[in-house]
Amino acid sequence: MTIHTHAPRFVVIGAGIVGLAHAVAALDAGYRVTVIEQDATAVLASVRNFGHVGTSVQAGELGELAREANAIWLSLAQRTGLDARRSGTLVVATTPTEEAVLHEVMSDRAPNGAQLLTSNQAAEQLGLGSGAQGRGTRILSALLLPGDLTADPRTAVARIAAWVNAHERGEVRFGTTVRGIDTGVVDTNRGRFEADHTVVAAGHLVGRLFPELAERGGVVECALQMSRVRAPHRMGIGPAVLTGTSMLRYGLFEGAASVKLRAELSVTRPELLEIDANVMFTQQADGTLLVGDSHANFDTAPPFQDEHCSQILLGEVAALLGAERLEVLERWQGLYATSQRQDILCEEPLPGVTAVTVTTGTGMTVGLALGARTVAALESGEGTAHEFATETTNLTS
Ligand SMILES: Cc1cc2nc3c(=O)[nH]c(=O)nc-3n(C[C@H](O)[C@H](O)[C@H](O)COP(=O)(O)OP(=O)(O)OC[C@H]3O[C@@H](n4cnc5c(N)ncnc54)[C@H](O)[C@@H]3O)c2cc1C
Repeated sequence: MTIHTHAPRFVVIGAGIVGLAHAVAALDAGYRVTVIEQDATAVLASVRNFGHVGTSVQAGELGELAREANAIWLSLAQRTGLDARRSGTLVVATTPTEEAVLHEVMSDRAPNGAQLLTSNQAAEQLGLGSGAQGRGTRILSALLLPGDLTADPRTAVARIAAWVNAHERGEVRFGTTVRGIDTGVVDTNRGRFEADHTVVAAGHLVGRLFPELAERGGVVECALQMSRVRAPHRMGIGPAVLTGTSMLRYGLFEGAASVKLRAELSVTRPELLEIDANVMFTQQADGTLLVGDSHANFDTAPPFQDEHCSQILLGEVAALLGAERLEVLERWQGLYATSQRQDILCEEPLPGVTAVTVTTGTGMTVGLALGARTVAALESGEGTAHEFATETTNLTS
């Protein structure tokens, strides 16, 4: 006998971070929850990223979501045992124009606890010791944003899925592909599931289930090149590191100084803009660094990785860390949904069905807040659709 027979049924398609955010929020609200995932384990955007929960670099509504999600990450670390730590973010400047962006942020819109660091202080954060110039790094100064987190993207969603599956009202059906959805019913290759509410969190694959919705939302695939490298020296477990190209992408940096920086980079470093680089890295618990990334949009992304592009990204990080070269341990292609029309696609394609896809490459930062939002809207009897207008340059990690 179960005491929950009459709890409403909440079916989630997709065991990435957005789907699991909905599963956790629905379980907390008392629903019976089934998560349906096509693969034997989630292997798409939610495991291919940096694990950077870049709360402080988001602006506007994304910033609000990011602050909500930050707290949820920390509580899920307690509840599920997933690996997320308050690493902070270090934004390094290697030219006077990049320094001007950091100064503009500090004087105009500094996030809580933000601190400008000297070259030596930044070098210490990276385990380079205080003789930064001597070790060959080019860092002039840096902005430390202490509230941000780094999660282990390879294990985080698997941990949350295991927690959902172990919950008395939860289950995760891996290896089950959703073929069609109607109000109240989800059709899969392993049978039909009845649902009082259905959430489609299929990431960049949303168009496979709702092609017109994806077309209206301008959703396309963004392909990114990533590597895992051995840290070139003992670094401790340091902050997530963003660089000058990151200053062109996140809402926090948007302003006159970043416009000037883009113009300058188009002359001094056109190769970085050509691959639409966001040169950044995070350090994982085993000491290795996740390094990336480039961006290219496609209707369907080709699988081929351009080695020249990887070399540009790896060369930038090596130079920053004062290393001649980096030892690459793994390479992979990341894919996420992107769109110029909105930051997050959140619509009700059918009564009782909500489709949620992050279309900015910020799902690890904001995704956990989206489940709580959808469930709160359901509970209050409001519609679950929400317009997340494009507020920023709409270019992220
Ligand atoms: C290289 C890279 C770096 C990134 N770095 C960061 C970062 O540092 N910080 C940050 O905030 N964000 C980052 N992002 C973005 C972030 O990873 C994504 O926004 C987020 O993971 C999207 O989560 P999701 O759950 O919507 O999608 P996904 O993780 O792609 O999950 C969707 C799931 O749905 C399943 N699915 C789809 N269709 C079906 C179906 N018909 N039946 C059953 N299952 C189905 C898929 O198998 C998949 O597991 C990065 C992304 C990439 C690729």
